[in-house]
Amino acid sequence: MYSIESGFTITPVRGSMRRTRIIATIGPASDSKEILGSLLRAGVDVCRLNYSHGAPADKSEIYQRIRGFEEELGHPTCILADLPGPKLRLGDFEGVIFLKQDSIVELHCGVAEMADVSPEKIPVAYPGLSAELQAGDPVLIADGLIRLMVKSTPDCAGGVVICEVEDGGPVSARKGINVPGTMVDLPAIGPRDEAALAHAIEAGADYVAVSYVRCAKDLHPAKEAIIAAGMHIPVIAKIEHPAALINLDEILDYADAVMVARGDLGVEIPLEEVPVVQQRIIDGALSRGMVVIVATQMLESMTYNPRPTRAEASDVSTAIRHGATAVMLSGETASGDYPLVAVETMARIAEATENGLAIQGINPSSLAKFKSTRAVAHAGVELAKIAKANRIIVATEHGNAPRLVSGYNPGIPITAVTNRIRAARRSHLLPGVDCVIVEEHERGSITMQNAIISLLNSGRVKVNEIIVVISGSPLAMGGPTSTVRLYKINANGEIIGAE
Ligand code: ATP
Ligand code: MG
Ligand code: MG
Repeated sequence: MYSIESGFTITPVRGSMRRTRIIATIGPASDSKEILGSLLRAGVDVCRLNYSHGAPADKSEIYQRIRGFEEELGHPTCILADLPGPKLRLGDFEGVIFLKQDSIVELHCGVAEMADVSPEKIPVAYPGLSAELQAGDPVLIADGLIRLMVKSTPDCAGGVVICEVEDGGPVSARKGINVPGTMVDLPAIGPRDEAALAHAIEAGADYVAVSYVRCAKDLHPAKEAIIAAGMHIPVIAKIEHPAALINLDEILDYADAVMVARGDLGVEIPLEEVPVVQQRIIDGALSRGMVVIVATQMLESMTYNPRPTRAEASDVSTAIRHGATAVMLSGETASGDYPLVAVETMARIAEATENGLAIQGINPSSLAKFKSTRAVAHAGVELAKIAKANRIIVATEHGNAPRLVSGYNPGIPITAVTNRIRAARRSHLLPGVDCVIVEEHERGSITMQNAIISLLNSGRVKVNEIIVVISGSPLAMGGPTSTVRLYKINANGEIIGAE
């Protein structure tokens, strides 16, 4: 049985539902109605829209297309809006350019779009890059796949940097650029992020991911914009910059969820450190009961092949066994040749891994700050263990309480009960959580009984099962989470107090 240092309790997962969440990046290879539908039916829990690619307005149609499947699927869909962040990228151009080893290529800095792009000349959107570089500096493109070495630079911003190609390969528009060790002087949320965030809020994104977070403060602008819009969208911190590892505790204390963004991380820090750092981030997140997503290159070879390597299958499985609550597909589904097979493969690996798996629960002593919702969530999970309950159901208005309950990893299915579609959608990123939408009754206990009846009718709970209910009072969903109840379903299918 797997156990890690931080003293987690070990709880086997019961119930038939897949616990680990699957996130698929939606791009040109998957945004058609047909493919999107097939991915959702194959078990994609969350659709990631990467605002680094394409104009924000072009995403509106994809939001609608995704939501359009909710009726057919019979459950809500969940959309994660990923903001570009202060990441250097190539400018826009048509087609694919092949950079040949030992050739010379010019980086034209401050050029957002280039019509006459060639293997000798490519655009870099950020004008400041030329002033940051010196002869001998490495410049990495496309998550480090391509490596250039600076030969000479102009002594001003917005000029031409001459580079030699050390490791060649194909490049396409807006591929990321990394210059390890150089502190790029860009704000955490720039104009492109502001536009993306405004669009995501307006379009109804369920989660917002902030890229290249260096410290907790980098999350403030996104949080503030969401609050100013009167929304409750949780914010995910993408860990991909070395400074984030120094400030990891404050970031984890502040963020609502976290992503191990291995693409950039593996270029910004030595590659061999990524697995250890991944474990550190997962442990930090689990000890706080947070959603933790492991991302990038999970089934990379499936971009062009219908089968993954054994090493990739093992990577997905290892991330789950180490405690990742979600695993993500990037290029595999965004621009790959086998988006559906990649999702099916990932789902199968997750299910096989979970079969008989022991997953670490939270270590409550590590929770520094007292928060009443968290305390009630904890009490409910403890009661479920003592009573050997079959399921926990949690009332929620914005999706906060089920997130906290799932963070305690009770090892039994959790149902989020809400009258709001947005909270139901958000529950899709939470490990082991499903949802029921019911009307709010003026008595919380009646709302929750109605929810249990709906679970009974859909076969998710059965006669003689024990249910723990976590809710507000007197209303179930509105107001603070304050109440834990224990129910048993009797032979007539009625809900009674458990003996
Ligand atoms: P990030 O650092 O945010 O992960 P990325 O450039 O690595 O950015 P991914 O979302 O990981 O982007 O996707 C992998 C690749 O798939 C991208 O480099 C890009 O070529 C392609 N891609 C993803 N989404 C889109 C899109 N909406 N339009 C065009 N290409 C896309
Ligand atoms: Mg990526
Ligand atoms: Mg990144």
